[in-house]
Amino acid sequence: PQPDPEAGAAVKAADRAHVFHSWSAQELIDPLAVAGAEGSYFWDYDGRRYLDFTSGLVYTNIGYQHPKVVAAIQEQAARMTTFAPAFAVEARSEAARLIAGRTPGDLDKIFFTNGGADAVEHALRMARLHTGRPKVLSAYRSYHGGTQQAVNVTGDPRRWASDSGTAGVVHFWAPFLYRSRFYAETEEQECARALEHLETTIAFEGPSTIAAVVLETIPGTAGIMPPPPGYLAGVRELCDKHGIVLVLDEVMAGFGRTGTWFAADLYDVVPDLMTFAKGVNSGYVPLGGVAVSSEIAATFATRPYPGGLTYSGHPLACAAAVATINVMEEEGVVENAAALGASVVGPGLRELAERHPSVGEVRGTGMFWAVELVRDRETREPLVPYNASGEANAPMAAFAAAAKKAGIWPFVNMNRTHVVPPLNTSEAELKEGLAALDTALSVADEYVR
Ligand code: PLP
Repeated sequence: PQPDPEAGAAVKAADRAHVFHSWSAQELIDPLAVAGAEGSYFWDYDGRRYLDFTSGLVYTNIGYQHPKVVAAIQEQAARMTTFAPAFAVEARSEAARLIAGRTPGDLDKIFFTNGGADAVEHALRMARLHTGRPKVLSAYRSYHGGTQQAVNVTGDPRRWASDSGTAGVVHFWAPFLYRSRFYAETEEQECARALEHLETTIAFEGPSTIAAVVLETIPGTAGIMPPPPGYLAGVRELCDKHGIVLVLDEVMAGFGRTGTWFAADLYDVVPDLMTFAKGVNSGYVPLGGVAVSSEIAATFATRPYPGGLTYSGHPLACAAAVATINVMEEEGVVENAAALGASVVGPGLRELAERHPSVGEVRGTGMFWAVELVRDRETREPLVPYNASGEANAPMAAFAAAAKKAGIWPFVNMNRTHVVPPLNTSEAELKEGLAALDTALSVADEYVR
């Protein structure tokens, strides 16, 4: 790509003048002007290229500008750019068929939304109407979206500003051995104690008041924490015992990220409702949805479901989903994530952990990995405090700057960096990224006590 700093400056100036950015203090941010993107890379107007270790916001699962998906969007735009949701439309029908063919168990009906948060909103509405109960249980260390109900079930600081509307939401601790809330020393203890804690929470809240338990199958932004074997099966059992709807949020973990079509496949657990977005069409056009079990679908067989969206199942977004899912099958994208996750990313990160004292733990699967940065491996004190900003966050800011300088765009959340590249990133690209990470971790090492 030819550098064009002048064009970049104009893009940046209009952004700074008129774009109001998400989750940001508007005058304290400095967004990079991006000139283009292809595959696992993007570049700025100065000609600097970055290997995208973030997949955007963990959604470009097949990388940028996949020619077959771009062509499918162009064809759909030429044929039928849009059509209202009450009609049967080829792209929508085919997307629903392809998604339902991959979701676990009997999750065979697809309610389409525009993204992940509204998928969570609708899943919880369905659960409340299906059970006739008011409450929802969700986990700390979770993220479920930025709209009111979705942010209320979220278990991170992004919820705090919207907490006035939390009526009916109760948070509990899900398992995470590295920072156990249960004084556990083994995965078995963590699993058993986290289940006992959930069981007690349900008992004290009153089982007959609880509509749903909502969990990310593998919590994503909160730290990519694969649950111990048996945990999700235990949650399923508790839900069955009390007639509670189990909602698994696979907005981030779904569509190949874990090296399986859905993270639930890793645990042999079938939820009653499953939310998805992001990877369903690599985010080329906004799309999300809820996969609905036959039992919950039956609730709304003769009684109208009171919810909808103008763009539910937008043909352009659905055509992108059809093309993306077909590309993922044809090009073995899910298999690539599983294979290179196991042979390159996992071993590469463990090797970095051995050499860098700032690495407390690495964990993950497929193309879904977290690197936990610490001041002290013994005490596990995080490299920066929980929810740090400004000076307190300087070590992570220095790490991120070093990573960018070394050529990768890093995913950074609190004291962690996540390695979440597109699922079709090649072995050579992954090794290049791990080498850049190596350089950046040396900067994090300087803050180790
Ligand atoms: N659920 C999970 C697990 C997510 O990771 C996200 C976004 O990161 C959402 C829901 C919200 O999705 P969206 O930003 O598309 O509304």
